[in-house]
Formats: sequence, C-alpha cells, structure tokens
Amino acid sequence: MNQLTNIGFIKQLLSSFGFSFSKQMGQNFLINPSVCPKMAELSGCDGIGVLEIGPGIGVLTEQLAKRAKKVVALELDRRLQPILNVTLKETDNVSVIFGDVLKTDLAALLQEQFGDLPVVVCANLPYYITSPVLMALLEQQLSIGRITVMVQKEAARRICAQPGTRQCGAITVTVHCYSTPKLQFYVERGSFLPAPNVDSAVITLDCKHPPENAGCDQALFGRIVRAAFAQRRKQLANALSAGLHIDKQQAVALIKQCGLPPAVRAEELTLADFKQLCHCMEETD
Ligand code: SAM
Repeated sequence: MNQLTNIGFIKQLLSSFGFSFSKQMGQNFLINPSVCPKMAELSGCDGIGVLEIGPGIGVLTEQLAKRAKKVVALELDRRLQPILNVTLKETDNVSVIFGDVLKTDLAALLQEQFGDLPVVVCANLPYYITSPVLMALLEQQLSIGRITVMVQKEAARRICAQPGTRQCGAITVTVHCYSTPKLQFYVERGSFLPAPNVDSAVITLDCKHPPENAGCDQALFGRIVRAAFAQRRKQLANALSAGLHIDKQQAVALIKQCGLPPAVRAEELTLADFKQLCHCMEETD
C-alpha cells in the first residue's frame, strides 16, 4: 500500500477517523516515498526482528514488514489504533503495542516479543524524546544489533560528532561509548505532514557489545558524563563539583590525578579521558 505517502489519501484517512495531529506527541508523518524504503534497508532487519518506536499511520512499519521476520511497533497514541488496523491489515508479521517507550521495560518487551531472534531498532523518532530514547536503548545494553533513527539535523550532527570536539555533548559521549554512529542522509522538512520547522537526518548506531566503558562502574560513568556537560561552558572542575555534589578541591584533585589540565572543559575530553575519570573516582570512593 504505497498510498501511505499520498497526501490526499492520508488527509482523507485521518479525517474519516476524526484524527488531528498532536504537536505534543511529535506527530510529523513521513510523506516522502523514498525515505522509508531506504530506512528499512539500512536497518538491516531482513529476516530478523525489528522494534519500531512510534509507527504513526504505519508508513515505515509496512516497509519493515516486507523485510523483517517480525515487527513490533510501540505507539503512545491510542487514537491511531483503528487507523493502524486498516493500514496494516495486509501484513501478518506486525504486532502493535500501545504504551510510552520511556515507561516500557524494553528488556522484558524484547524478550517477550522476540525471544532468541536477533533484533534491530528502526524509527522516525518523536523529536521531543530523542535523547532519552537513545540513552535508554544504549545504556541498558539491550541485545540490539543496530539502531536506525530519524532525528533533527542538529541532533544528528551532535550525536555523530567526535568526543573532544566543540559540537560534542553528553549524548555524543554516550553514543560513542555504546555504539559506532554514522550520519547516513539528510531529509528536508517538506518530507513530513505537517512540515516541522527543522530539517532531519537518518543516522545508524551499530551497538558495541561490550561497550567501551565495560571495565567501569557504568552508572557512575553516566553520572560523570551528564555532570560534565550539564554546565558545558564552565571548567570541568566546577561542573563536576556541582553535578556530583563533591567539593571543588576534590574535583580539582581528580582532574589532576587523570593528568588533565586544570582549566579543561567537558567538550575537550575524549572517551578515554571519561573512562580515566571514572576509574579515578571509583578508587577514591
Ligand atoms: N513513523 C511515523 C512516520 O514516520 O510517519 C510517525 C513518526 S512521528 C515523528 C512520531 C510517532 O511517535 C508518532 O506516531 C507519535 O504518536 C509517537 N510517539 C510520541 N511519543 C511517544 C512515546 N513516548 N512512546 C511511543 N510513541 C510515541
């Protein structure tokens, strides 16, 4: 059913169900017919399981269903249920589950739905939850091979930047720790209904098992990264002191112990520096 990228068809379908877009839920549906087949191909879901977050009216879901053994689509908005019943009626390998991805026990969901089947994630993410969704997928070290997601263009650039460069943020360090990211292609705002105010990009994250911080206390590693970037304009000593609730002298000593310059800022740190900070802090605890 290629009608799912036809504006006239979509408008008629949605109005027949009295559906109106929710800005709050980040509902911008894809209408560019070339994007979903490309995302499905990039996802690497052929013959295996795929978890989709936010199927909307099912435009990406139907492309995933053509390739995957099983598709599980997790959607927050129950108003989409009768619409998905219509748009996905010709598929027999899709399960739609209603719930909030951020409140879902993803490890349990993957086990229940896919068992031993290898799984990838593919989604046009609602932009308001890009970071928490990626953090949840990566930090929980779910048994996922690849994550293929559409995000805002600026978020894609930040995620794929190298740690230790100006564009880097907490999400950059986390992503590089748990995966190898790649910016695949840009998607213009006119590819969506309604059109958002920003352009987008599709990125892939190839998950690392084990992650780069395997030898560290991973919860502490996450706290250090978040604290360091919570006040990214400040020197690292001040940011760590505020974010980890330690006194400034302790933060300064920690930085010195790791062989870092006293005035260093978070955006100058490499992944190895963050690991070193974590090890030093574990030793002083
Ligand atoms: N996949 C569709 C497409 O490409 O046209 C829709 C993408 S739209 C950008 C984001 C989708 O995520 C919407 O269907 C929205 O209702 C859903 N969504 C928003 N917040 C969610 C959440 N917390 N958990 C699960 N789905 C969510």
